[in-house]
Amino acid sequence: MTGFPSNFEFEITALHGRARAGTFNTPHGKIFTPVFAPVGTQASVKAITPAQLHELGASLVLANTYHLYLRPGDELIAEMGGLHQFMNWPGPILTDSGGYQVFSLAATRKIDDDGVTFKSHIDGSLHRLTPEKSISIQENLGADIIMAFDDCPPPGDREYNLRALRRTHSWAERCLKAKTHPDQALFGIIQGGVFSDLRCRSVEYLAHLGFPGFAIGGLSVGETKDQMHAVLEAIDPLLPEDRPRYLMGVGTPRDFVNGVMRGVDIFDCVLPTRLARHNAVLTLTGRLNLVNATFSRDPSPIDEHCTCYTCRSFSRAYLRHLIVSKEMLAATLLSIHNLHTLLQLAREIRQSILDSRFDDFATRFFESEKFQNL
Ligand SMILES: [Zn+2]
Repeated sequence: MTGFPSNFEFEITALHGRARAGTFNTPHGKIFTPVFAPVGTQASVKAITPAQLHELGASLVLANTYHLYLRPGDELIAEMGGLHQFMNWPGPILTDSGGYQVFSLAATRKIDDDGVTFKSHIDGSLHRLTPEKSISIQENLGADIIMAFDDCPPPGDREYNLRALRRTHSWAERCLKAKTHPDQALFGIIQGGVFSDLRCRSVEYLAHLGFPGFAIGGLSVGETKDQMHAVLEAIDPLLPEDRPRYLMGVGTPRDFVNGVMRGVDIFDCVLPTRLARHNAVLTLTGRLNLVNATFSRDPSPIDEHCTCYTCRSFSRAYLRHLIVSKEMLAATLLSIHNLHTLLQLAREIRQSILDSRFDDFATRFFESEKFQNL
């Protein structure tokens, strides 16, 4: 049984119900969990500088292996000193394995037991990813936390999920064998669609292999919220207590609280920056689209209780003006507010676990109007 690479350590500092507050030490700093990780798909959190991310209190940033492999290329990034130096983010970074993007973005793909051959969505060029290749790319990128290469089936097809699970498990073993860098923690990815028995089988198999952390893949891809919660509840008692758990691509405010309630530590989601690019902001009462003419003379901030730079400094009228004039600053200011909202929620969740009042926090959160349409 392998465990944590020498310069990683995960410690649970407080438990309340199934909610966990922990500290995850990585070679590039501490991650206090539960944590929300902003997504920097192309080694850039869209419209936000690393200095702004730091000011927002972000600790962990996610980058996408598929995108960086295709452009500018993992070897180029290694030549430039690795991802931390290339994007000038000194804190912890997590990369995915490329699996999910190959299945969701590539122009065409052909999967076999050895790997996946696909055409780039950028220029149609032909590429092949295998577990060994995914690890080699992620070693070139140099993130602190890296992911095993997995098969990502549609969540409701049991036959497909059975086949994909066998493949995901055999690929997980190959990833462990291929990994050579001691300063990276490789997480196994739990698959099995909406089928709790397959999910449990996946946890048991991967836990036996001794991964230092576990990612839960294939959720928030079309299944219902109840199905997602049932999967999380089924696997929670089987997951090793002393290893971090990462729910991939799931991070709306309500999903975040629901995931923490079911024992998850790490979340990422493109929602804050994607909404910002569509002129939308997260507020206590849900999504607000600032392009709406009703805001043209509105002197109030996006949210008068929010302490972010945007809300401390600018009116809805000014932000609407930037959007209508197609000023680039709009994307930055809206992203700052949306990222702050998720990062602040993470801090409040963590504090409530440390104070043994997470149950109350969650009850009040779900009873209130907060983020009802998200
Ligand atoms: Zn704000």
